[in-house]
Amino acid sequence: MDCIFCKIAAGEIPCKKLYEDEQVLAFHDIDPKAPVHFLVIPKTHIGSASEITSGNSAVVAHIFEVIAKLTAQLDLKNGYRVVTNCGKDAGQSVEHLHFHVLAGRLLYPDMA
Ligand code: 5GP
Ligand code: ZN
Repeated sequence: MDCIFCKIAAGEIPCKKLYEDEQVLAFHDIDPKAPVHFLVIPKTHIGSASEITSGNSAVVAHIFEVIAKLTAQLDLKNGYRVVTNCGKDAGQSVEHLHFHVLAGRLLYPDMA
């Protein structure tokens, strides 16, 4: 499958890695929208949040555990935002489930 995040997860395309285990990978976004902007992905291919099922949702829980650990390590005391864009109207540009973690600037009142 021609999926850029599957290739990053497989180590075929380089990334600035923050964290990795058997199930997930966290890496810095190539085009950051905030002073802190990293992505957390499952290593197995899930197309988007629409494809989360009872059969694959355990990795999503794990992703949120990893986000809690990483944001604590990065000392993001002022807060952070977790976003997943799903589908065309949300502007999803990579069709492999990923959670953006944004921090380091005021993120409200905008939702995006
Ligand atoms: P989306 O628009 O699908 O919610 O988010 C995709 C994100 O992936 C974008 O923020 C984009 O900058 C990032 N991205 C796309 N290609 C690459 C890449 O090859 N490496 C990294 N590190 N980030 C990427
Ligand atoms: Zn993929």
